[in-house]
Amino acid sequence: MLALIIATLALYLPALLWVKTSSATRQGRRAQAAAISAVDALLPQTQCGDCGYPGCRPYARAIVVQDAPLNLCPPGGGATVRKLELLLGKAAQYAPPPPLPSAVARIDEDACIGCVKCIVACPVDAIVGSARQLHAVIPEYCTGCKLCLPPCPVDCISMEPAAPAEAPDLQRRPYAEAHLHA
Ligand code: SF4
Ligand code: SF4
Ligand code: SF4
Repeated sequence: MLALIIATLALYLPALLWVKTSSATRQGRRAQAAAISAVDALLPQTQCGDCGYPGCRPYARAIVVQDAPLNLCPPGGGATVRKLELLLGKAAQYAPPPPLPSAVARIDEDACIGCVKCIVACPVDAIVGSARQLHAVIPEYCTGCKLCLPPCPVDCISMEPAAPAEAPDLQRRPYAEAHLHA
């Protein structure tokens, strides 16, 4: 009888251990995904890539998984660094990122073919125009994220320094804030 019990345990123990381990792994993965989402929610969501990662969530993932520095997001500035520090229990460990030069997108109206691709790409609705009409940027709304540049098939969008009248203090503001003003 004892031999039978031992034989049964030997048969099923690896399976039981595997179930336990994979359940713990699943819980770990869920906790990690939740942490990444919490960090991501504090980032500006302009997806500009200035942090060195291909978007806000990849940077959030690097913060959680690879312990990446908290001050790599210039659009977020010092305010975002403080929020991240608070969330992750790392108070006052990081200096604010250096501010980016104020820049706005400009469209060469002579070259624009009115394809609308830049409007689709702009996360803050800073471009006006319609199909086969020339397009223009509303500088006060432009956060300088450069997301409209790659989709333009004729390369007629460029980044230029913002003039004082173009409210440079609002440059690079977070996506949600920019939407409130839009
Ligand atoms: S907004 Fe910040 S976190 Fe998001 S892609 Fe740009 S630099 Fe990275
Ligand atoms: S650079 Fe300005 S116009 Fe271009 S996508 Fe970003 S906010 Fe919109
Ligand atoms: S993507 Fe370029 S060509 Fe197309 S509408 Fe915008 S500025 Fe014009």
